Amino acid sequence: MKDLHINGCGDSCCLKIQNLSVKIGKDDILKDVSLHIHCGEMVALIGPNGAGKSTLLKAILGQREYEGVVSFSAPGLRHKRAPRIGYVPQSPAFDPGDPVSVLDLFACCMGKRPVFLGAGKKMEEKVLRCLERVHGEELLHKRLGALSGGELQRVLLALALEPLPNILILDEPLSGVDAEGMGLLMDMLDEIRKKYDLSILMTTHDFDMLPRYADQVVLINHGLVCQGSAEAVLSSESFRQVFHRKGGL
Ligand code: ADP
Ligand code: MG
Repeated sequence: MKDLHINGCGDSCCLKIQNLSVKIGKDDILKDVSLHIHCGEMVALIGPNGAGKSTLLKAILGQREYEGVVSFSAPGLRHKRAPRIGYVPQSPAFDPGDPVSVLDLFACCMGKRPVFLGAGKKMEEKVLRCLERVHGEELLHKRLGALSGGELQRVLLALALEPLPNILILDEPLSGVDAEGMGLLMDMLDEIRKKYDLSILMTTHDFDMLPRYADQVVLINHGLVCQGSAEAVLSSESFRQVFHRKGGL
């Protein structure tokens, strides 16, 4: 059963997940997960590999059947209008020799004319405005296969921000990004969140980033294990048990 509806759970609650369960075949991938994300919040979803993080994101996106309720509300969201969700998937790989450029990718996603005819001037200007949001104008003509991990994430982020969403969901945006790039990307997400008043839900294994950037950390392992401030979750007994760690950070 899938029950996705838009309701008024108060202006401060943007995404509300109630008793969400996902089964694949006979396996319980997620069981009884409940979670609230407030407007403008940055929420980090953590858990070991195979915990069901990507599955939860896909259920929210409507790409995976689930039981339970996923509901949205946002200030200014007109009655019965579905919220806009921007999604950055987990590390898509591009062939290093592929001639497709950043402009081609945007033209393919945003335009109506066949990409082999080339993007017109108007499209080029539109894509430049999208790339400006991630300070990536210089990436316009770069080939996708030639982008660094951090550059690719910025391009995918720019794509997810057009049109501007109510909620931005990112699946492991920091994987494949070097240490300097991680800080830059997190600063950028923080800036975008404030500038466009978005809620962000992202999965990550980079726990060192959490105290600085996350308003809320949610630890799942097929079910909800614990949630709270980064400091509280990372120093919890549950965190130690799930990750078999001695110290929190
Ligand atoms: P995470 O993102 O936390 O690493 P996933 O949500 O990708 O975990 O996967 C959770 C579990 O669901 C894993 O055991 C995985 O093998 C299983 N799973 C995910 N997608 C499928 C699928 N399409 N078919 C079968 N099993 C799947
Ligand atoms: Mg995953």
